[in-house]
Amino acid sequence: MKRGSLKVIFSFPIFLALLFLSFNFSYANFQDQDSIIITAVGDINLGGKVGKIIAQRGVNYPWEKVRHLFSLSDINFGNLECSISNRGKPLKGKKYTFRGNPQFLKGLSQAGINFLSLANNHTQDYGRIAFLDTMESLKKEKIIYAGAGKNNKEAYSLKIIEVKKERIGFLAYSGILPPGWEATAKKPGIASAKNISSIIGSIKQARGQVNYLIVSLHWGKENSPAPLSSQRKLAKLIIDAGALIVLGHHPHVIQGFERYKRGLIVYSLGNFIFSPGSSKGRYSAILQLKLCSGELKEIKVFPIYIKDAQPQLMKDKKGNSWLVEIQKRSLKLRTNFKLFYKEIFLLHTIPSLKTSNSKISLLPL
Ligand SMILES: [Zn+2]
Repeated sequence: MKRGSLKVIFSFPIFLALLFLSFNFSYANFQDQDSIIITAVGDINLGGKVGKIIAQRGVNYPWEKVRHLFSLSDINFGNLECSISNRGKPLKGKKYTFRGNPQFLKGLSQAGINFLSLANNHTQDYGRIAFLDTMESLKKEKIIYAGAGKNNKEAYSLKIIEVKKERIGFLAYSGILPPGWEATAKKPGIASAKNISSIIGSIKQARGQVNYLIVSLHWGKENSPAPLSSQRKLAKLIIDAGALIVLGHHPHVIQGFERYKRGLIVYSLGNFIFSPGSSKGRYSAILQLKLCSGELKEIKVFPIYIKDAQPQLMKDKKGNSWLVEIQKRSLKLRTNFKLFYKEIFLLHTIPSLKTSNSKISLLPL
């Protein structure tokens, strides 16, 4: 595979063929008994404007148009960008503070969200008591989280989910760290991404305990379509140390995807359950990853537009042109895509996966 070249397969006969294929048909191809499917989304904020909308329209409202994409997946990941509590007060001097009602978590669990990162710059917006409530509420709802805890041991701990006898490990860190938010031996808080050698040490320790290791990072420049060079450097160190996937968030927009060695770096998943301030924050994506035999086998990206705090799949020309834009952003990171109607499938660019290319018949063309 030539690096840096872009292949777009979008001819008229293919278009016609795909027009008659239902979504379920292509999804059935993606799934099989031995594979693990992970669906990942960006920022989930149940406070602010979104909280008001949920209070009016119900806990399931934000998920209604996309829940089918989570229903057949083994792990559904997101970044919880708010505090969950009925207590606490907004932090003085902080421009944006978000808090969602604990009842709203029902919407997440009923949509199948079973894993969240709490390492970000909003989970402590309503102070310590609300932060502790956030973790308690998630436990009650049986949603696993990483990157936060009652002390540093908990906040930096590896979380493992077992699926089909395989162990998937998660570590989560935040590079965006309001003062005093980092967990210490005696203080609740989040995991900081500032100490790179400690992150690398944790990954090396974790990789022997799991079949797949995923690292979540809250980082980067807001509203920028491209990652910073410092992020690219850190992500590569993380994969070199033994992680397979980096799931990033915070910039509120989708940044390019980068294939690196056997892994994938997702610099920013953008917004998801959110009420974006700018129109470009409404364009997002749902990422689906297929893992099998210790490797990342396939990647799908679904184009999403957020309207009234409700993410929905983009169709036709609009969906297509947004995918082309994501493709361009990824190409800048030397990562190839094949573009299909409605979905992007990332081409396998690494030598170790080339042998399995023949098995990847994602759509029955
Ligand atoms: Zn953030």
